Amino acid sequence: MIVVMKQDSTKKDIECVAAYIDGRGYKPHISVGVERTIIGVEGRIVPELKDELELLRGVSEVLRVTKQYKLGSREFKPESTIVRVGNVAIGSDQVVVMAGPCAVESEEQVITTAKAIKAAGAMIMRGGAYKPRTSPYSFRGHGVTGLRMLAKAREETGLPIITEVMSTEEVETVAEYADILQIGARNIQNYPLLDRVGKVQRPVLLKRGFATTYEEWLLCAEYILAGGNPNVILCERGIRTFETGTRNTLDLTAIPVIKKLSHLPVIADPSHGTGKWYLVKPMALAAVAAGAHGLIIEVHPNPDTAWSDGAQSLTFENFNDLMKGVRAVAGALGRRMPDEVPAAQAVV
Ligand code: PEP
Ligand code: MN
Repeated sequence: MIVVMKQDSTKKDIECVAAYIDGRGYKPHISVGVERTIIGVEGRIVPELKDELELLRGVSEVLRVTKQYKLGSREFKPESTIVRVGNVAIGSDQVVVMAGPCAVESEEQVITTAKAIKAAGAMIMRGGAYKPRTSPYSFRGHGVTGLRMLAKAREETGLPIITEVMSTEEVETVAEYADILQIGARNIQNYPLLDRVGKVQRPVLLKRGFATTYEEWLLCAEYILAGGNPNVILCERGIRTFETGTRNTLDLTAIPVIKKLSHLPVIADPSHGTGKWYLVKPMALAAVAAGAHGLIIEVHPNPDTAWSDGAQSLTFENFNDLMKGVRAVAGALGRRMPDEVPAAQAVV
Protein backbone atom coordinates (compact mmCIF):
# COMPACT_ATOMS: atom_id res chain seq x y z
CA MET A 1 0.00 0.00 0.00
CA ILE A 2 1.22 3.55 -0.62
CA VAL A 3 0.25 6.80 1.03
CA VAL A 4 0.42 9.79 -1.32
CA MET A 5 0.96 13.00 0.63
CA LYS A 6 -0.58 16.32 -0.46
CA GLN A 7 1.76 18.70 -2.23
CA ASP A 8 1.50 21.19 0.65
CA SER A 9 1.96 18.59 3.39
CA THR A 10 4.60 19.54 5.94
CA LYS A 11 7.62 17.61 7.20
CA LYS A 12 5.72 17.17 10.47
CA ASP A 13 2.67 15.69 8.63
CA ILE A 14 4.97 13.18 6.92
CA GLU A 15 6.64 12.24 10.19
CA CYS A 16 3.26 11.80 11.89
CA VAL A 17 1.98 9.50 9.13
CA ALA A 18 5.21 7.46 9.27
CA ALA A 19 4.94 7.22 13.06
CA TYR A 20 1.29 6.12 12.78
CA ILE A 21 2.27 3.36 10.31
CA ASP A 22 5.07 2.28 12.60
CA GLY A 23 2.74 2.28 15.60
CA ARG A 24 0.35 -0.04 13.77
CA GLY A 25 3.20 -2.54 13.34
CA TYR A 26 4.12 -1.80 9.70
CA LYS A 27 7.33 -0.51 8.17
CA PRO A 28 7.10 2.94 6.52
CA HIS A 29 9.36 3.78 3.53
CA ILE A 30 9.44 7.51 2.84
CA SER A 31 10.21 8.63 -0.75
CA VAL A 32 10.58 12.38 -1.05
CA GLY A 33 9.95 13.34 -4.66
CA VAL A 34 10.16 16.70 -6.42
CA GLU A 35 6.38 16.86 -6.81
CA ARG A 36 5.12 14.90 -3.86
CA THR A 37 6.12 12.57 -1.05
CA ILE A 38 5.04 8.95 -1.02
CA ILE A 39 5.12 6.65 1.97
CA GLY A 40 5.21 2.92 1.22
CA VAL A 41 3.66 0.63 3.82
CA GLU A 42 5.33 -2.76 4.12
CA GLY A 43 3.62 -5.70 5.76
CA ARG A 44 0.46 -7.80 5.62
CA ILE A 45 -2.09 -5.01 5.45
CA VAL A 46 -5.47 -5.12 7.18
CA PRO A 47 -8.30 -3.50 5.12
CA GLU A 48 -9.18 -0.85 7.73
CA LEU A 49 -5.69 0.67 7.55
CA LYS A 50 -6.60 2.45 4.30
CA ASP A 51 -9.47 4.35 5.99
CA GLU A 52 -7.38 5.14 9.04
CA LEU A 53 -4.53 6.59 6.98
CA GLU A 54 -6.83 8.64 4.76
CA LEU A 55 -7.98 10.55 7.83
CA LEU A 56 -4.50 11.73 8.77
CA ARG A 57 -3.36 15.31 8.15
CA GLY A 58 -1.54 15.93 4.87
CA VAL A 59 -2.68 12.67 3.25
CA SER A 60 -3.97 13.03 -0.31
CA GLU A 61 -4.84 9.39 -1.06
CA VAL A 62 -4.02 5.82 -0.10
CA LEU A 63 -3.52 3.33 -2.94
CA ARG A 64 -2.96 -0.38 -3.16
CA VAL A 65 0.18 -1.43 -5.09
CA THR A 66 -1.26 -3.24 -8.08
CA LYS A 67 1.83 -5.28 -8.95
CA GLN A 68 2.52 -8.69 -7.37
CA TYR A 69 5.97 -7.46 -6.41
CA LYS A 70 5.61 -4.59 -3.97
CA LEU A 71 8.89 -3.47 -2.40
CA GLY A 72 10.72 -3.61 -5.73
CA SER A 73 8.12 -1.65 -7.67
CA ARG A 74 8.36 1.99 -8.72
CA GLU A 75 4.84 2.48 -7.42
CA PHE A 76 6.06 1.68 -3.93
CA LYS A 77 9.31 3.66 -4.20
CA PRO A 78 9.39 6.17 -7.07
CA GLU A 79 12.99 7.30 -6.63
CA SER A 80 15.78 5.07 -7.91
CA THR A 81 17.74 2.96 -5.45
CA ILE A 82 21.47 3.53 -5.39
CA VAL A 83 23.58 0.65 -4.15
CA ARG A 84 26.87 1.88 -2.75
CA VAL A 85 29.91 -0.36 -2.92
CA GLY A 86 33.33 1.03 -2.01
CA ASN A 87 33.29 4.44 -3.62
CA VAL A 88 30.93 3.72 -6.48
CA ALA A 89 27.20 4.32 -6.68
CA ILE A 90 25.38 1.66 -8.72
CA GLY A 91 22.03 3.00 -9.89
CA SER A 92 23.22 6.59 -10.23
CA ASP A 93 24.37 8.39 -13.39
CA GLN A 94 27.66 6.48 -13.14
CA VAL A 95 28.44 3.57 -15.46
CA VAL A 96 30.02 1.04 -13.10
CA VAL A 97 32.05 -1.72 -14.73
CA MET A 98 32.76 -5.02 -12.95
CA ALA A 99 35.27 -7.32 -14.63
CA GLY A 100 37.44 -10.37 -14.11
CA PRO A 101 37.72 -14.02 -14.95
CA CYS A 102 34.78 -16.40 -15.08
CA ALA A 103 36.52 -18.66 -12.56
CA VAL A 104 39.27 -17.98 -10.05
CA GLU A 105 42.11 -20.23 -11.17
CA SER A 106 45.20 -19.04 -9.27
CA GLU A 107 46.35 -16.16 -7.10
CA GLU A 108 48.56 -14.90 -9.88
CA GLN A 109 45.68 -15.02 -12.38
CA VAL A 110 43.33 -12.96 -10.21
CA ILE A 111 45.94 -10.44 -9.10
CA THR A 112 47.23 -9.79 -12.64
CA THR A 113 43.65 -9.48 -13.90
CA ALA A 114 42.61 -7.18 -11.05
CA LYS A 115 45.53 -4.85 -11.80
CA ALA A 116 44.76 -4.83 -15.53
CA ILE A 117 41.05 -4.14 -15.20
CA LYS A 118 41.70 -1.43 -12.62
CA ALA A 119 44.16 0.29 -14.95
CA ALA A 120 41.49 0.21 -17.67
CA GLY A 121 38.90 1.88 -15.38
CA ALA A 122 36.87 -1.01 -13.92
CA MET A 123 35.76 -0.42 -10.34
CA ILE A 124 34.81 -3.92 -9.14
CA MET A 125 36.58 -7.27 -9.58
CA ARG A 126 34.63 -10.41 -10.47
CA GLY A 127 35.67 -14.06 -10.20
CA GLY A 128 33.86 -17.30 -9.40
CA ALA A 129 35.06 -19.53 -6.58
CA TYR A 130 31.89 -21.65 -6.65
CA LYS A 131 31.06 -22.42 -10.26
CA PRO A 132 27.74 -23.74 -11.51
CA ARG A 133 28.77 -25.96 -14.45
CA THR A 134 26.57 -27.69 -16.98
CA SER A 135 28.73 -30.82 -16.72
CA PRO A 136 29.70 -32.20 -13.31
CA TYR A 137 33.10 -33.12 -14.81
CA SER A 138 34.02 -29.48 -15.56
CA PHE A 139 36.03 -27.35 -13.11
CA ARG A 140 33.64 -26.39 -10.34
CA GLY A 141 35.72 -23.78 -8.53
CA HIS A 142 38.30 -23.60 -5.74
CA GLY A 143 35.71 -22.80 -3.05
CA VAL A 144 37.10 -21.06 0.05
CA THR A 145 40.65 -21.18 -1.35
CA GLY A 146 39.34 -19.18 -4.32
CA LEU A 147 37.65 -16.68 -2.00
CA ARG A 148 41.01 -16.13 -0.28
CA MET A 149 42.65 -15.48 -3.64
CA LEU A 150 40.00 -12.87 -4.40
CA ALA A 151 40.58 -11.26 -1.00
CA LYS A 152 44.28 -11.07 -1.87
CA ALA A 153 43.45 -9.33 -5.16
CA ARG A 154 41.33 -6.81 -3.24
CA GLU A 155 44.20 -6.23 -0.82
CA GLU A 156 46.58 -5.57 -3.71
CA THR A 157 44.31 -3.29 -5.74
CA GLY A 158 41.63 -1.96 -3.37
CA LEU A 159 38.92 -3.16 -5.77
CA PRO A 160 35.77 -4.56 -4.13
CA ILE A 161 34.95 -8.17 -5.01
CA ILE A 162 31.84 -9.76 -6.50
CA THR A 163 31.53 -13.54 -6.45
CA GLU A 164 28.80 -16.14 -6.81
CA VAL A 165 27.16 -17.99 -3.97
CA MET A 166 25.39 -21.21 -4.92
CA SER A 167 24.02 -22.72 -1.76
CA THR A 168 22.37 -21.58 1.46
CA GLU A 169 25.07 -23.17 3.62
CA GLU A 170 27.79 -21.12 1.94
CA VAL A 171 26.12 -17.70 2.19
CA GLU A 172 27.81 -16.62 5.43
CA THR A 173 31.27 -17.79 4.31
CA VAL A 174 31.00 -16.08 0.92
CA ALA A 175 29.68 -12.92 2.59
CA GLU A 176 32.78 -12.84 4.82
CA TYR A 177 34.98 -12.38 1.74
CA ALA A 178 32.77 -10.78 -0.89
CA ASP A 179 31.62 -7.18 -1.18
CA ILE A 180 28.73 -8.21 -3.48
CA LEU A 181 27.08 -11.64 -3.58
CA GLN A 182 26.13 -12.91 -7.02
CA ILE A 183 23.12 -15.17 -7.52
CA GLY A 184 23.53 -16.91 -10.86
CA ALA A 185 21.02 -17.51 -13.62
CA ARG A 186 20.58 -21.13 -12.57
CA ASN A 187 19.78 -20.24 -8.98
CA ILE A 188 17.44 -17.30 -9.43
CA GLN A 189 14.45 -19.36 -8.37
CA ASN A 190 16.20 -21.10 -5.49
CA TYR A 191 13.88 -19.49 -2.95
CA PRO A 192 15.66 -20.67 0.24
CA LEU A 193 18.87 -19.13 -1.17
CA LEU A 194 17.05 -15.85 -1.90
CA ASP A 195 15.64 -15.85 1.63
CA ARG A 196 19.11 -16.38 3.07
CA VAL A 197 20.81 -13.57 1.09
CA GLY A 198 17.94 -11.35 2.22
CA LYS A 199 19.36 -11.69 5.72
CA VAL A 200 22.97 -10.68 5.05
CA GLN A 201 24.40 -7.18 5.05
CA ARG A 202 25.91 -7.37 1.58
CA PRO A 203 24.54 -6.12 -1.74
CA VAL A 204 23.25 -8.89 -4.02
CA LEU A 205 23.56 -9.06 -7.81
CA LEU A 206 20.58 -11.06 -9.03
CA LYS A 207 21.05 -12.45 -12.53
CA ARG A 208 18.05 -13.11 -14.70
CA GLY A 209 17.34 -16.79 -15.37
CA PHE A 210 17.37 -18.39 -18.82
CA ALA A 211 13.57 -18.40 -18.91
CA THR A 212 12.55 -15.82 -16.34
CA THR A 213 9.94 -13.22 -17.27
CA TYR A 214 10.32 -9.65 -16.04
CA GLU A 215 7.64 -10.24 -13.44
CA GLU A 216 9.17 -13.50 -12.20
CA TRP A 217 12.58 -11.83 -12.00
CA LEU A 218 11.19 -8.96 -9.93
CA LEU A 219 9.36 -11.44 -7.71
CA CYS A 220 12.70 -13.16 -7.08
CA ALA A 221 14.18 -9.79 -6.10
CA GLU A 222 11.18 -9.32 -3.82
CA TYR A 223 12.28 -12.34 -1.74
CA ILE A 224 15.57 -10.60 -0.98
CA LEU A 225 13.94 -7.22 -0.31
CA ALA A 226 11.26 -8.79 1.89
CA GLY A 227 14.01 -10.60 3.80
CA GLY A 228 15.36 -7.19 4.83
CA ASN A 229 18.15 -6.57 2.33
CA PRO A 230 17.38 -3.44 0.25
CA ASN A 231 20.60 -3.59 -1.79
CA VAL A 232 19.63 -5.62 -4.83
CA ILE A 233 21.16 -5.06 -8.28
CA LEU A 234 19.52 -6.79 -11.25
CA CYS A 235 21.55 -8.18 -14.15
CA GLU A 236 20.34 -9.01 -17.65
CA ARG A 237 22.57 -11.86 -18.87
CA GLY A 238 20.66 -13.24 -21.82
CA ILE A 239 17.76 -15.62 -22.14
CA ARG A 240 17.27 -18.82 -24.08
CA THR A 241 15.47 -18.41 -27.41
CA PHE A 242 15.26 -20.43 -30.65
CA GLU A 243 18.46 -18.72 -31.85
CA THR A 244 21.54 -20.94 -31.57
CA GLY A 245 24.01 -18.56 -33.25
CA THR A 246 24.84 -17.03 -29.88
CA ARG A 247 25.04 -18.63 -26.42
CA ASN A 248 22.00 -16.66 -25.26
CA THR A 249 19.91 -13.80 -26.58
CA LEU A 250 20.82 -10.64 -24.67
CA ASP A 251 17.48 -8.96 -24.04
CA LEU A 252 18.43 -5.30 -24.01
CA THR A 253 14.79 -4.27 -23.91
CA ALA A 254 14.84 -5.60 -20.35
CA ILE A 255 16.91 -2.61 -19.28
CA PRO A 256 14.42 0.20 -19.96
CA VAL A 257 11.53 -2.10 -19.01
CA ILE A 258 13.01 -2.92 -15.60
CA LYS A 259 13.90 0.75 -15.03
CA LYS A 260 10.26 1.61 -15.63
CA LEU A 261 8.84 -1.14 -13.42
CA SER A 262 11.38 -1.02 -10.62
CA HIS A 263 13.58 1.39 -8.70
CA LEU A 264 16.40 -1.18 -8.48
CA PRO A 265 19.64 -0.71 -10.45
CA VAL A 266 20.03 -2.87 -13.56
CA ILE A 267 23.28 -3.85 -15.26
CA ALA A 268 24.10 -6.04 -18.28
CA ASP A 269 26.36 -9.06 -18.80
CA PRO A 270 27.23 -9.16 -22.51
CA SER A 271 29.74 -11.99 -21.90
CA HIS A 272 27.16 -14.64 -20.95
CA GLY A 273 24.61 -12.81 -23.08
CA THR A 274 26.52 -13.57 -26.28
CA GLY A 275 29.10 -16.28 -25.48
CA LYS A 276 31.53 -14.85 -28.04
CA TRP A 277 34.31 -12.42 -27.17
CA TYR A 278 33.96 -10.36 -30.37
CA LEU A 279 30.29 -9.65 -29.59
CA VAL A 280 31.00 -8.43 -26.06
CA LYS A 281 32.08 -4.88 -26.92
CA PRO A 282 29.23 -4.01 -29.30
CA MET A 283 26.63 -5.37 -26.88
CA ALA A 284 28.30 -3.65 -23.91
CA LEU A 285 28.05 -0.31 -25.72
CA ALA A 286 24.45 -1.02 -26.70
CA ALA A 287 23.61 -1.87 -23.07
CA VAL A 288 25.04 1.45 -21.87
CA ALA A 289 23.12 3.23 -24.62
CA ALA A 290 19.96 1.44 -23.45
CA GLY A 291 20.50 2.87 -19.96
CA ALA A 292 22.29 0.10 -18.05
CA HIS A 293 23.72 1.30 -14.74
CA GLY A 294 26.77 -0.87 -15.30
CA LEU A 295 28.33 -3.91 -16.91
CA ILE A 296 29.87 -7.17 -15.80
CA ILE A 297 32.50 -8.48 -18.21
CA GLU A 298 34.65 -11.60 -18.29
CA VAL A 299 38.36 -10.88 -18.72
CA HIS A 300 41.22 -13.39 -18.66
CA PRO A 301 45.02 -13.02 -19.02
CA ASN A 302 44.94 -15.74 -21.69
CA PRO A 303 41.40 -16.67 -22.76
CA ASP A 304 42.66 -19.63 -24.84
CA THR A 305 43.73 -21.42 -21.67
CA ALA A 306 40.80 -20.35 -19.43
CA TRP A 307 39.29 -23.12 -17.28
CA SER A 308 35.81 -21.82 -18.08
CA ASP A 309 34.14 -19.47 -20.55
CA GLY A 310 37.33 -18.73 -22.51
CA ALA A 311 35.38 -18.18 -25.75
CA GLN A 312 33.58 -15.17 -24.28
CA SER A 313 36.49 -13.78 -22.24
CA LEU A 314 38.35 -10.64 -23.30
CA THR A 315 42.10 -10.21 -23.29
CA PHE A 316 43.41 -7.21 -21.32
CA GLU A 317 43.90 -5.38 -24.61
CA ASN A 318 40.35 -6.02 -25.77
CA PHE A 319 38.99 -5.00 -22.38
CA ASN A 320 40.92 -1.75 -22.59
CA ASP A 321 39.40 -1.12 -25.97
CA LEU A 322 35.90 -1.90 -24.65
CA MET A 323 36.40 0.59 -21.81
CA LYS A 324 37.36 3.34 -24.26
CA GLY A 325 34.12 2.71 -26.11
CA VAL A 326 32.07 2.63 -22.90
CA ARG A 327 33.60 5.94 -21.83
CA ALA A 328 32.69 7.50 -25.17
CA VAL A 329 29.08 6.27 -25.12
CA ALA A 330 28.67 7.27 -21.47
CA GLY A 331 29.99 10.75 -22.25
CA ALA A 332 27.69 11.13 -25.26
CA LEU A 333 24.71 10.35 -23.03
CA GLY A 334 25.71 12.67 -20.20
CA ARG A 335 26.60 9.73 -17.95
CA ARG A 336 29.82 9.50 -15.99
CA MET A 337 32.48 6.89 -15.40
CA PRO A 338 33.12 6.61 -11.64
CA ASP A 339 36.63 8.04 -11.99
CA GLU A 340 35.10 11.22 -13.47
CA VAL A 341 33.08 11.85 -10.31
CA PRO A 342 34.75 14.60 -8.24
CA ALA A 343 36.20 13.17 -5.02
CA ALA A 344 33.89 15.39 -2.97
CA GLN A 345 30.86 13.64 -4.48
CA ALA A 346 32.28 10.13 -4.21
CA VAL A 347 30.48 7.99 -1.69
CA VAL A 348 32.12 5.84 0.93
C1 PEP B 1 29.08 -16.31 -14.26
O1 PEP B 1 28.91 -15.12 -13.97
O2 PEP B 1 30.20 -16.81 -14.46
C2 PEP B 1 27.89 -17.16 -14.47
C3 PEP B 1 27.92 -18.46 -14.25
O3 PEP B 1 26.82 -16.44 -14.90
P1 PEP B 1 25.29 -16.90 -15.19
O4 PEP B 1 24.75 -17.32 -13.86
O5 PEP B 1 24.68 -15.67 -15.75
O6 PEP B 1 25.35 -18.04 -16.17
MN1 MN C 1 31.18 -17.41 -16.80
